[in-house]
Amino acid sequence: MAAPTLSVNGRSYRLPAPGAAPVVVVCVDGCEPDYIAQAVASGRAPWLARTLAQGTALVADCVVPSFTNPNNLSIVTGVPPSVHGICGNFLYDTASGTEVMMNDPKWLRAPTLLAALAEAGRSCAVVTAKDKLRRLLGHGMSLSRSMCFSSEKADSCTVAEHGVDSVLALVGRPVPDVYSAELSEFVFAAGVALMKQRRPDVMYLSTTDYIQHKHAPGDPVANDFYAMMDRHLGELDAMGCVIALTADHGMNSKVRMDAKPDVIYLQDLLDGWLGAAAARVILPITDPYVVHHGALGSFATVYLPAGADIAGTAKRLAALRGIEGVWTREQAAAHFELPADRIGDLVVVSERSTVLGSAASRHDLSGLDAPLRSHGGISEQRVPLILNRAIAGLDTQRRWRNFDAFDLVLNHAG
Ligand SMILES: [Zn+2]
Repeated sequence: MAAPTLSVNGRSYRLPAPGAAPVVVVCVDGCEPDYIAQAVASGRAPWLARTLAQGTALVADCVVPSFTNPNNLSIVTGVPPSVHGICGNFLYDTASGTEVMMNDPKWLRAPTLLAALAEAGRSCAVVTAKDKLRRLLGHGMSLSRSMCFSSEKADSCTVAEHGVDSVLALVGRPVPDVYSAELSEFVFAAGVALMKQRRPDVMYLSTTDYIQHKHAPGDPVANDFYAMMDRHLGELDAMGCVIALTADHGMNSKVRMDAKPDVIYLQDLLDGWLGAAAARVILPITDPYVVHHGALGSFATVYLPAGADIAGTAKRLAALRGIEGVWTREQAAAHFELPADRIGDLVVVSERSTVLGSAASRHDLSGLDAPLRSHGGISEQRVPLILNRAIAGLDTQRRWRNFDAFDLVLNHAG
């Protein structure tokens, strides 16, 4: 008899058999592949070194905009933002004429695989560093045998809302500061504790990129972070878990030679070209936690006034130093697989070491205590996709996506 399968968003997944090895997908926020390479080179990531040699080691593409929410949702739905609808951390809601966070599940247009697995009677445990992702990741998931909580709010979990309580006692750690490496360490520690005590069938762990925004690959603090991660993943591996590690996006230095952020302030430019506030620049990196990047990333979308010369403005922007490309709404929707109704008339992507701002006066860079590192563009699209299982006959030459992670662990790594 064929193993039972589950169909979600047009993709088919094998349901984990009762008593099968637990499946763990880890999204390491901002994990540019070089972080892994440098940690392995330092000798401080023995589990990763062994896994790269004996398991599956791919470099995949994330979704552009290379931001946290779109990619986490792609990983748990298995499809691009054109299907699931989450195309930024932040958007301009044309219906209400307001700029809003995209944390609310009302923006989600597709069910998650996690909800489908819980519906099919499998126990799921979802742990995210920041609470902003929790409701999106846990949307539609029955909590009768499953749970979904964040490190940030680990002290206020209830069975009714999160499927679990007394998380601090379970993990044996205090609530970490929201701007700290410990916020991510708590995610891994919770994963290990839950695997020991509850052994869920499926686990999704999602960290935060606080360290990656401040520290380059190979920096001692970055290597400390990857050594910490390596220990925890080694523990999960020793408990028999099938593990896939991927990332929501990469990370690059975004500074000039004087170490100051290399910013193109799009709102100021467009105000000069079209008149004050005629165009509206939206930076979808914006979220409540902007201290470490000042809301500066390599992706912006622009709403132009009625009757504006869209093609002419695109051409003028594309000619600027530091711009990688400019796409019209229709071109961007097709090229980046984005929902056309949730992006502006233009999508602008900056180069590897350049970021896009709105108006200079709107960015508070006083919180930047290290040279700016950020993401959002095509230059941050490469991410690791690593499994602790070898897969015979896997086509390593095709274009893999970070949202193939669940397909690999459920359909190919068993
Ligand atoms: Zn991220």
